[in-house]
Amino acid sequence: MFKEVTDFIKTTFQTQDFIPLHEPRFIGKEKEYLADCIDSTYVSSVGKYVDEFEKRIRDYTGAKYAIATVNGTAALHTALILAGVNEGDIVITQALCFIATSNAISYQKAIPLYIDVDKKTLGLSPEKLAEYLHENVVRKNDGYSYHKSSGKKITACVPMHTFGHPAKIDEVAKICADYNIVLIEDAAESLGSTYKEKQTGLYGKIGAYSFNGNKTITCGGGGMVVTNDEVLGKRAKHITTTAKVPHRWDFVHDEIGYNYRLPNINAALACAQMENLDLFISKKRELAKQYYDFFNNKEIMFVSEPENSKSNYWLNSVLLNDRDERDKFLSYTNDNKVMTRPVWTLMNKLEMFKNCPKGNLDNSEWIEDRLVNIPSSVTNV
Ligand SMILES: *Cc1c(COP(=O)(O)O)cnc(C)c1O
Repeated sequence: MFKEVTDFIKTTFQTQDFIPLHEPRFIGKEKEYLADCIDSTYVSSVGKYVDEFEKRIRDYTGAKYAIATVNGTAALHTALILAGVNEGDIVITQALCFIATSNAISYQKAIPLYIDVDKKTLGLSPEKLAEYLHENVVRKNDGYSYHKSSGKKITACVPMHTFGHPAKIDEVAKICADYNIVLIEDAAESLGSTYKEKQTGLYGKIGAYSFNGNKTITCGGGGMVVTNDEVLGKRAKHITTTAKVPHRWDFVHDEIGYNYRLPNINAALACAQMENLDLFISKKRELAKQYYDFFNNKEIMFVSEPENSKSNYWLNSVLLNDRDERDKFLSYTNDNKVMTRPVWTLMNKLEMFKNCPKGNLDNSEWIEDRLVNIPSSVTNV
């Protein structure tokens, strides 16, 4: 069976050479815009491409405000600051997640609280979230929710759209609203994925995207904060650009700010990539369909997009029967020049986060034992 899989992947990607998990494609105006950017000398913290990139993200997603940042982690950190997350607060997130989310929470000296994911969507489970909050939260007179056992304020919730598959984000949003918890969407992996016809990243008060080299589109490194809230949008721009008060020559900064602005040269690359985003997503969806057909009625299960959603299929994944079979599959494929990867080690098992509060994580554990990502680059362009 494993040989059938590697043969299929080699045929699909039309090569006998090493097949990476995800590589970028530069088939548009990348070189043209980069050359223009270099010729202009505006390669750094100011320039027209940053404004253009932000505009293109606004146009594409429908967000009222889009603020480009140096990477997705910086976008998440900015989002947490905007949400008012302070030292000692609790921020809800997923145990099954890339490290960046828990890192960003830690930069604010806040504490991640790990809630289980949904087996179908791989994103935060609204049922598990509601159950945990019902049992472990008290509402105080100030209107906020507090964690019963520690007394800490639960300020924000950061669900993630795993591998591009939308979580049940409307249900999560409803629960957060009921408990007065700010919803921040980690949409780093899901640019272009929609849930109930609306872009992921826009269900929350604030959303964050990533344009790292391995994401659906890339600008080398980069991120974006999106929001429909004018106050937050303006504040995001302010704090990511050293909190400088606009003036023709004076340097006055009115709070401690961050140098999180995306360089113009990265934005030039991003503008070219944006022009092919829809093409890339359609090609990725075609590849997912081929995988779906191949794995149909086989003992390895392909992970399809959840109900009510259209996934960008950033990374395709399969589920093996158990951890032992997973490890055999990882060895066989990687030995045979097909790159595959297990899902991340659960956050609550890492040294830095092992003492953080958590709910029941049965689904996360189940997925951790079985899930493997398979090659997902855009093909046939
Ligand atoms: C990629 C990613 C980020 C941000 O990563 P950067 O490398 O900082 O751009 C954040 N969260 C998740 C879930 C990611 O996959």
